[in-house]
Amino acid sequence: MTDKAFELVVFGGTGDLARRKILPALFKRFCAGQMPEPSRLIGAARSDMSSAEYRRFVSDAVAEFGGAVGKDELAQFLRQITYVPFDARGDAGWQELAEMLDPACIRAFYFSVGPGLFKDLAERLHAHGLVTEDSRIVVEKPFGHDLDTARALNRVLCSHFDERQIYRIDHYLGKETVQNLMAVRFGNMLFEPLWNSQYIDHIQITVAETVGIGGRGAYYEKAGAMRDMMQNHLMQLLCLIAMEPPAKFEPDAVRDEKLKVIRALDPVEPHHIVRGQYTQADGCAGFRDEVDNPRSKTESFIALKCHLSNWRWAGTPFYLRTGKRLKNRDSQITVVFKDTPHSIFGQDAGRHNNELTIQLQPNEGITLDVTIKKPGQGGMQLIDVPLDMSFAEALGPGADAPDAYERLIMDVIRGNQTLFMRNDEVEAAWAWTDPIIRGWEARGDVPKPYDAFTSGPDGALQLLRRDGREWRGIDG
Ligand code: NAD
Repeated sequence: MTDKAFELVVFGGTGDLARRKILPALFKRFCAGQMPEPSRLIGAARSDMSSAEYRRFVSDAVAEFGGAVGKDELAQFLRQITYVPFDARGDAGWQELAEMLDPACIRAFYFSVGPGLFKDLAERLHAHGLVTEDSRIVVEKPFGHDLDTARALNRVLCSHFDERQIYRIDHYLGKETVQNLMAVRFGNMLFEPLWNSQYIDHIQITVAETVGIGGRGAYYEKAGAMRDMMQNHLMQLLCLIAMEPPAKFEPDAVRDEKLKVIRALDPVEPHHIVRGQYTQADGCAGFRDEVDNPRSKTESFIALKCHLSNWRWAGTPFYLRTGKRLKNRDSQITVVFKDTPHSIFGQDAGRHNNELTIQLQPNEGITLDVTIKKPGQGGMQLIDVPLDMSFAEALGPGADAPDAYERLIMDVIRGNQTLFMRNDEVEAAWAWTDPIIRGWEARGDVPKPYDAFTSGPDGALQLLRRDGREWRGIDG
């Protein structure tokens, strides 16, 4: 619960992200009593509309994406909403915005516009004197296109704001299960002693989507899965799974440990990377049609094997993959423990190992596979059964996990940066990614085509099979 009132200015307040995520998320926090008067949401965008028209826009967005909506609550929420048309690259609207803002409130400026405007917003916020001690900015992805552009953006933002005022958002970190990953690791004695290369065979991270790139062709053709997903979301998940216990659950303590993980990553061997591009399927255009480039060399799928050079993880491979138009929407982290050193039950009983699966979507939850005796006569046969912790079932109907954006927006208001990326983390992630991308460019690497709604190119399966392993998740 925050005591102090806030004003959340959403630059790009009429855009897709605002409509689908930010506005419904804030409405839910309003319903939870976390938007005390005189807190306000101020939508700011290029469209020339009135506040009344914007309230209708918000009302529609909440109705479409906000789940069950109480009429009275929505009406009250709308009373706390204003709109200002503005130009990020010109002078229009800035003076009006400055006059609107209440100096007594916390100010959060959400940059929900294309990354080409981040610099303009930072400069104009400063030039128009809108930045107070209690101001923060929220910066959406993509944070740069490579190390140089990320550094340049950091330089601009840091010249106008303190690092403590900059919230680089990665919505994967706001997912309840991702935070539970830290609770499971650092709140239980059970796992941490085993959390190293002595007991863990390997770790897999899969973020699979069934959707294609849709209307984002122009952006995606320049980005690809490496920049769009691997450099940020998957790297962040890798950090949380591999980091050392921070001394405290505090922003810099956590981020220091995450940074050490990224810095410990070895360069990836080219033959440990598989890139793919989906082809046309029934009723769905292929990737090259969607980006309108018949010779596109951009990947819509990537799988790679990487290693961390540190005491804890020496010798444990991490397999990461992400892609679009795959057969299921399925994001999970699987920690595969080693076999027992010796089976007392003999070869006929079968060999089994423990697996901890952290399911991020579609149904957030954690499962631990344990080995037990197969029930019935016929000697000792072993099977794996899941100890299942589906949050919805275990915690009851009142315990709906809040959407990641609800959590993250309120963290911004409360001034808690734990789940946001620091400048050095982002730069370290690019420093690891850049040479890989440059290698593809130098070699003229062309991604392998894969059939839409499959598990991606065959090479990704072989990446594990060569090591005697199999992917979990979308492959069953
Ligand atoms: P969008 O194109 O739907 O919306 C852009 C918004 O910016 C609109 O409100 C528009 O009026 C405003 N705008 C554009 N030019 C402007 C100008 N010169 N002055 C003032 N306002 C201007 O974009 P989006 O999909 O909502 O994405 C916004 C940001 O969020 C981007 O950085 C994107 O990469 C990021 N993002 C989006 C999603 C998503 O699901 N849409 C997911 C992750 C990150």
